Amino acid sequence: MTIKRLCVFCGSSPGSRPDYARAARELGALLARRGIGLVFGGGKVGMMGQLAQAALENGGEVIGVIPRDLYDRNVAFSGLTDLRVVGTMHERKALMAGLADGFMALPGGLGTLEEIFEILTWAQLGMHQKPCGLLDIAGYFTPLLRFLNHVAEQGFIDPPHRAMILSAEFPGDLLRQFENYKPIVADKAEWALGLTES
Ligand code: AMP
Repeated sequence: MTIKRLCVFCGSSPGSRPDYARAARELGALLARRGIGLVFGGGKVGMMGQLAQAALENGGEVIGVIPRDLYDRNVAFSGLTDLRVVGTMHERKALMAGLADGFMALPGGLGTLEEIFEILTWAQLGMHQKPCGLLDIAGYFTPLLRFLNHVAEQGFIDPPHRAMILSAEFPGDLLRQFENYKPIVADKAEWALGLTES
């Protein structure tokens, strides 16, 4: 699958280990070098700011999508290739989803988790066929990935949908998985009906 633009969800904080921001900068530079545009939340703070800064410094295209209230609070990154100011968080996510060919989460908090899980939910309902994954920097997502295995083992995620959640420790490895990704065809509604009827 060709990735022309990648949407990255990540923390508005830098986190407590320098590895996180380092990896955000590494990903930003890698995307720019590979000619892959970055779509992100438009903030200048934390992981977001590091990621966007590195992509811009390396000549990359960076599109920020930010809701009006955050923009008015002066947290937007200035000097992006393009900054789209939208009315609501819902509009923001829909626009980010439309602009990108894949979705990656880097370490972050509630905002990051909510964003990647909503995109994964849309994928399992067949609303898009784009690759989604977690960049497991310094093992940050390992407990979550383990929990997702538990969720699948307990019958709440269809195994093909669990397999749809890509992960790797290094940006280049995860990007390669995105490029080799074959969309999953298993339908969530049919799987749930099958469980009910058997
Ligand atoms: P969190 O992981 O809770 O820090 O939230 C980060 C995610 O929420 C990002 O992917 C953004 O889309 C959004 N977000 C949270 N805070 C900001 C901010 N100050 N500026 C722009 N976007 C933000």
